Amino acid sequence: LCASEDNFDFFYFVQQWPGSYCDTKQSCCYPKTGKPAADFGIHGLWPNYKDGSYPSNCDPDSVFDKSQISDLMSKLQKSWPTLACPSNEGFKFWSHEWIKHGTCSESVFDQHEYFEAGLKLKDKLNLLQILNNAGIKPDDKFYKLESIRDAIKEATGFTPGIHCNVDSSHNNQLLEIYTCVDTSGTEFIECPLLPKGRCASSVQFPKF
Ligand code: 5GP
Ligand code: 5GP
Ligand code: 5GP
Repeated sequence: LCASEDNFDFFYFVQQWPGSYCDTKQSCCYPKTGKPAADFGIHGLWPNYKDGSYPSNCDPDSVFDKSQISDLMSKLQKSWPTLACPSNEGFKFWSHEWIKHGTCSESVFDQHEYFEAGLKLKDKLNLLQILNNAGIKPDDKFYKLESIRDAIKEATGFTPGIHCNVDSSHNNQLLEIYTCVDTSGTEFIECPLLPKGRCASSVQFPKF
């Protein structure tokens, strides 16, 4: 592990809306364990630098070892489900996230701790509940990007980053919500840098 890859400044904690992921041109496949709940799912917990760059694939010697997370399996299936095709159980997605991003946080987390940290953050940040409380629901309607951002800012104290996709009917849809977490991986913080969003001013929140 290079020292330069071990001094990241914060994490992006990224959650994805399955309805939007499935509407993109690559479409989606439900995991072998069944259709995920109509809830945001974890995409990843990503070490990042303040200038917007980020380390990746930091430890060629680290392998993904599923036996280390066997106790987390049902929680991962529920909160960190894969939607990629072909349908699989999720190990490919979790392995990818650990190898690409997790290995850059080995100063903080071993593999078990990395996934546990993601699950705990998701429990702390119920995005669907926050949006619901603001009248923003996955009902195929369009919502102002500002109102989505404001609802999350109101509830958490911090401005999120928002990424959108374009579906086959050219609708801009709410795809991912980026929040920021301190280097301990436990506390939400104001983002040092918001990712460049690719959203229209009004975005669809599709059903799932
Ligand atoms: P995309 O180009 O689809 O936004 O991102 C592709 C992949 O690059 C993501 O799945 C993630 O692994 C990585 N990535 C994209 N943007 C960021 C970022 O701002 N920070 C980090 N750490 N990784 C990112
Ligand atoms: P973009 O042009 O959207 O910033 O980045 C395109 C792709 O390049 C991203 O999906 C990501 O995978 C990769 N990328 C961009 N910045 C970085 C970086 O700082 N580090 C690494 N490892 N990949 C990056
Ligand atoms: P990233 O490199 O952006 O962190 O992660 C994207 C990679 O994970 C891609 O190779 C993608 O095929 C895979 N993947 C598997 N399941 C999912 C999923 O549910 N959502 C996303 N965004 N990527 C997934």
